[in-house]
Amino acid sequence: MKRFDLLVIGGGSGGVATANRAASYGARVALFEPGRMGGTCVNVGCVPKKIMWSAATLAHAIEEARGYGFEAHAERFDWRGLKVRRDDYIRKLNAGYERGLTNNKVSIVRAFARFVAPDTLEAGGERYSAPHVVVAVGSHPIVPEIPGAALGITSDGFFELERRPDKVAIVGAGYVAVELSGVLRALGAEVTVLIRRERVLRSFDAMLGTRLMEQMEADGIRIVRHSQVGRVERAADGLRIEYGAGALPGFDTLIWAIGRQPNSAGLGLEAIGLRPEPGGVIPTDAFQETVVRGVYAIGDVTGRFELTPVAIAAGRRLADRLFGGQTARHLPYENIPTVLFTHPPIGTVGLSEQAAVERYGAEQIRIYETGFIPMYYAFGERQPRCFMKLVVAGAEERIVGCHLIGMGADEILQGFAVALRMGATKADFDDTVAIHPTVAEELVTMRGSRAAAPQE
Ligand code: NDP
Repeated sequence: MKRFDLLVIGGGSGGVATANRAASYGARVALFEPGRMGGTCVNVGCVPKKIMWSAATLAHAIEEARGYGFEAHAERFDWRGLKVRRDDYIRKLNAGYERGLTNNKVSIVRAFARFVAPDTLEAGGERYSAPHVVVAVGSHPIVPEIPGAALGITSDGFFELERRPDKVAIVGAGYVAVELSGVLRALGAEVTVLIRRERVLRSFDAMLGTRLMEQMEADGIRIVRHSQVGRVERAADGLRIEYGAGALPGFDTLIWAIGRQPNSAGLGLEAIGLRPEPGGVIPTDAFQETVVRGVYAIGDVTGRFELTPVAIAAGRRLADRLFGGQTARHLPYENIPTVLFTHPPIGTVGLSEQAAVERYGAEQIRIYETGFIPMYYAFGERQPRCFMKLVVAGAEERIVGCHLIGMGADEILQGFAVALRMGATKADFDDTVAIHPTVAEELVTMRGSRAAAPQE
C-alpha cells in the first residue's frame, strides 16, 4: 500500500489544479491519469477550439481588410497544416502540465483508478490510500441512442478531422453547436444546424440566442428549427438525416453537439456506497463533498457549470480548505462569467432577464439595452451588430446580469464580471469614464430603461 495525503482521480484542468495547489501546501499527492494530461480542455476542447475560432476570425478579417484598402483574398485554407501545428502545440501543453506536476512533487500514476474503499484506490495493480480523495474525471460528449447515430462524430471527432468537411450537419443548440457551426462556415463549409426547438442557447438570456441566430443565418448557416433527429442513414450522396417533419440528404459530416455526460462509470463508486444520479452526476455540497466522508468531486462530473475555470476554482479552493487552513473556502456557483466563441462572440454573466424576474419579481427589475454596428465594420458588407443588455434589480439598480454579443465581447466581459461580483450599480457604470471609440464604452453610456418583459 502506498500512502499519501491526497489522491486525485483525473489529470484534467480541475484535477491538475487541485493536485498542484495541495502540493504547494506540502501535501503528498498522487494523481491518476491513464490518458493525455490536460483533459478535455487542453486536448479536445477550449484550446484546439480557440485555435480554430482564431482561424475563422482571420477568414472574416481577410474579407474585411478589403474595405480598408487591402487587395486581400483568402486563396486557400490549409486545414491539415493548421491541424499539425495545433496538435504540436497541444503536445507541448501536455508535457508542460506533466512537468508542472513533477516540479511540485506530485506523483503521477499512469493508470485508471478505482475505489476499493473510501480512502483506498487500486490502479495498475497497486493500492494507494489517503484520507482525502478527489474525483475529477470529467465528462464525454453524448451520442443519441437512435438508428445510425454512429455515422456521426462528436466534438472529439471534430478535432481529428484531417480536412475541412464540405457539407456539415450539426445537431444541438448549445455551446458546441453554435461555436463549431461558426468556425466551419467561416472556413468555407456549407453548414446546417438542426435544433429541437425554436431557438439556440435557451439556457441563456433570450436576447443572445435570438441575435446570434440572426447573424448565423446572415452568414449563410441554415438553421432547421423543431427538428428532433430520429434516424441517420448512409446513402449514395452522403448522410441522410431524418427528423420529425422531413429529411435532409447529402452530408459528408454529422456532428452531435447535444451535451456531455459525466465519466463516473467504472470507478467502483458502488464499493464505497456513492451512488451517482441517473445521468452519472456525482452530487456534491457547497464544499465539493460527496455523501461519503473524505471523498470529494469537482468539475464536469458534478454537473454544475461544465467550464474549465470553474473546475480549477473549485479544486484550488478545496485544496486551500483541506491543506491551507482556510476552513470556509469554497466556490459559490454564482456570477460565473462565460464566453461562447461564436461569430461574433458572446459574453454573459449573472442572471438572464427571465431568471432575474423569477428571483426578484418583475416589478424589481429594469432592463437597459443597446444595439449598434461597431465602427470596425463601417466599410464591409458583413456587418455583425453588437447587442448589450444590463439587468438591474431594486431601487439602487444593482447590476445582476450583463449579456453581450458582438465584437470584443469575449475580452470585454472579464472586467465587468469583477464589477458584478463587487455589487456594482448602474450609477457606478454611469460614473465610469468611457473609453472612446470602443465597443466596450457602450456598457457605461446606456440611457433609458424598460420594464422587464422576459420572453420564453
Ligand atoms: P450544451 O449543454 O451546451 O447544449 C446541448 C443542447 O443541445 C441542449 O441544451 C439541448 O438544447 C440540445 N439537445 C439536447 N439533447 C438533444 C437531442 N437529443 N437532440 C437535439 N438537441 C438536443 O452541450 P454542448 O455539447 O454544446 O456542450 C457541453 C458543455 O461543454 C457546455 O454546456 C459547456 O458547459 C461546455 N463548453 C463550454 C464552452 C465554452 O466555455 N466556450 C465551449 C464548448 C463547450 P434544447 O433543449 O434547446 O434542444
